Amino acid sequence: MATNEDSLKNIISHAKEYGFVFPSSDIYDGLSATYDYGQLGAQLKNNIKEYWWKSMVQMHENIVGIDAAIFMHPTVWKASGHVDAFNDPLIDNKDSKKRYRADVLVEEHIAKYEAKIQKEVEKGQKRFGDAFDTEQFLKTNPNVLRNQEKIDEINTKLEAALNDSNLDALRQLIIDLEIACPISGSKNWTEVRQFNLMFSTELGSVAGDAAKIYLRPETAQGIFVNFLNVQKTGRMKIPFGIAQIGKAFRNEIVARQFIFRMREFEQMEMQFFVKPGEELQWYKYWQEARLKWHNALGFGENKYRLHDHLKLAHYANAASDIEFDFPMGFKELEGIHSRTDFDLKQHEEFSGKKLRYFDPEANENYIPYVVETSIGLDRMFLATLCASYQNEKLEDGSERVVLKIPMALAPVKVAILPLVKKDGLPEKAMEIFNQLRPFVQTNYDEKDSIGKRYRRNDAIGTPFAITVDHQTLEDNTITLRHRDSMEQERISIKEAIEKVIQKTDIRSLLSC
Ligand code: ATP
Repeated sequence: MATNEDSLKNIISHAKEYGFVFPSSDIYDGLSATYDYGQLGAQLKNNIKEYWWKSMVQMHENIVGIDAAIFMHPTVWKASGHVDAFNDPLIDNKDSKKRYRADVLVEEHIAKYEAKIQKEVEKGQKRFGDAFDTEQFLKTNPNVLRNQEKIDEINTKLEAALNDSNLDALRQLIIDLEIACPISGSKNWTEVRQFNLMFSTELGSVAGDAAKIYLRPETAQGIFVNFLNVQKTGRMKIPFGIAQIGKAFRNEIVARQFIFRMREFEQMEMQFFVKPGEELQWYKYWQEARLKWHNALGFGENKYRLHDHLKLAHYANAASDIEFDFPMGFKELEGIHSRTDFDLKQHEEFSGKKLRYFDPEANENYIPYVVETSIGLDRMFLATLCASYQNEKLEDGSERVVLKIPMALAPVKVAILPLVKKDGLPEKAMEIFNQLRPFVQTNYDEKDSIGKRYRRNDAIGTPFAITVDHQTLEDNTITLRHRDSMEQERISIKEAIEKVIQKTDIRSLLSC
């Protein structure tokens, strides 16, 4: 059986082989933690964006979308707290010279105890079969309880060290837990230091510190500084949201795991402005709404779990992550944060401009509270690839690699394939190709045997293939092949076109 590590490796090489994702500046051997999206990757990425944008903006009468600049006034990042507090605690192993995030080292150690608990559960399930009661088992099994106690103890210490920004305590925890460097195997650690994650550059011809500006580390601030612009010009009434998709940049210390953690990435964020006191109710609403958005894709509810934050960010009064079951385990895919009035208040103070909302019903002015949903587009892309990638053994003993990408997200929706390259079949196929093109991304392919062409389209996740043969010339019927079941049906060209357009329409996801 393929290990999880193998499965990520297979996905990475598949993504490169078929033009989804390339290392950046590949001919120069790449640039670490930076990737380019190829011809199919760009298409898939656009489809994910479209799904998010439409479900946020088009499907909510009280949410609008903007597109703010990457560069912002430098004071924005002082006000937001990023200049002072957007740090990761890092630690170096003196022998391997490798650098780690100190908190991640501890979390990975905790994950080992979690894996032990999971093993006990699986053993129990095997032994007791249907009579097995997981909840009861977790509460009573002595091995589980021992491991859980250890997890709780470490978590308490980690939480305290992070909350107090106590770097010595964090280092001590690593020493006490006898955590070794995965590369050198040694426990020879440096001190823990804070490292700011923002990239900076200089603006125009101005010299000195005044010219220093940052590449935005999140898209959210572009929304906050435009809060009043949008509220006034859009005549928005609270509660309302502002959505945005755009690039963000972070000088990540540990940048591994393919497009999961990059230094340049894309976020899809929505800030929802609410009346103070109503934020926790909206926080719950958005947790549910976002899970629903994920579940509509049909990857399976067991692929997601909600994880409450141990350490609340400086701006939050509640925060959780939607985690996805990646090959490297459950990891954060999306954050949902109740950010209070922190950001708008800070911008009021630093800009000297009032950022208040006049509530006509209550006849009062207030600074709204904010609930944010923030998802990494690249992580969503990776989640989609991981959940879709399947290596199937077929009845005839052969194998196929297929990407079972949700039809509405698939980069190419349909392939038009003349059975042979003669007898007028290519011309007929071209007619169908031209009919479908204005509606959906369509590929025309006449090279290689029909079997090879089916496999190629399976490998890039094309949900449908239309094969044109000699009978097509006589009665205008074609063979419609379905990617997932590999079933083939003989139907009219008209029916096939309608089916392809209808089944791959993004509306099928929006109405879920
Ligand atoms: P992590 O704990 O994994 O570093 P975070 O909590 O710092 O993530 P947020 O600041 O909440 O992340 O950002 C919101 C979303 O942006 C994340 O849920 C993730 O999907 C995405 N994201 C954050 N950092 C990166 C990155 N370096 N590369 C790709 N996506 C990222």
